[in-house]
Amino acid sequence: MKRKPKLGQNFLTDDRARHAIADALGDIRQRTVIEIGPGKGAITDILVPRAGHLVALELDRELAPALAARYADTPTIRVIEDDVLRIDLASIIPSGETADVIGNLPYYITSDILLKLFAAGAAGHLRRAVVMMQREVADRVAASPGVRDYGLLSATAQMNASVEHLFTLSPSSFSPPPEVFSSVLRLTFAPRYGELQVDPEGFDRFLKQSFAQKRKTLENNLRAAGFSPQHLAQAWPASIPKMARAEALTLEEMSELYRALAANA
Ligand code: SAM
Repeated sequence: MKRKPKLGQNFLTDDRARHAIADALGDIRQRTVIEIGPGKGAITDILVPRAGHLVALELDRELAPALAARYADTPTIRVIEDDVLRIDLASIIPSGETADVIGNLPYYITSDILLKLFAAGAAGHLRRAVVMMQREVADRVAASPGVRDYGLLSATAQMNASVEHLFTLSPSSFSPPPEVFSSVLRLTFAPRYGELQVDPEGFDRFLKQSFAQKRKTLENNLRAAGFSPQHLAQAWPASIPKMARAEALTLEEMSELYRALAANA
């Protein structure tokens, strides 16, 4: 029987891939870079001589001190033994600056990490992120409206960042090999709330309500969330089909509907 690695520990062993991931961050000589889950340092070792400042966040109680010991004499890297989901990212970024993020993510918490990055990006703390995740999750993040993979994660991601799919790796690029393929995405944080004239908190809630049940129409999801049939009928824009599912609408259309409902409340 295969033993599942703890903490999503599938270490990258493909030399070309680890260089390609580090290269995708671009010129980082003047940048603060946050690495999520450095592990044994496959990507870290490439970043250290390149980055202005590197902060490596590792939860594993043995790997974090081992990495810190390896770089004890290197002032440009700081290893923090902590949970990426608990740490306040703003507290490790010099005030008034933005940081870049990189990581071969622990797959068991990928969505939570992405949501945390989007929130930090919307707050103006991040410039870009190069992140590896399970291929299926990457496909959802990058999907366009109307295709099968498009859903709440896609809409949330694309409200907060432009998404580039860089490359996919097979399980043999890792040790131990995971059971899934992996894809690398580059996210350039550029929140669209202002441009689409919606408030972030209200619109994020509206997206969750709209995508609550995949088999329901958008209208039925909104009814289930408490919008009255009269309110929906009065405010519904003529350009949006009544029977549409949230998965089919662009972010421009979703925000048009949100604004119409708010104006007609
Ligand atoms: N970067 C290394 C590489 O590419 O070989 C390791 C990648 S491995 C997929 C994920 C890493 O994230 C592991 O080192 C694991 O210990 C670490 N990790 C898991 N959960 C974490 C968490 N909540 N906070 C920070 N690091 C975590």
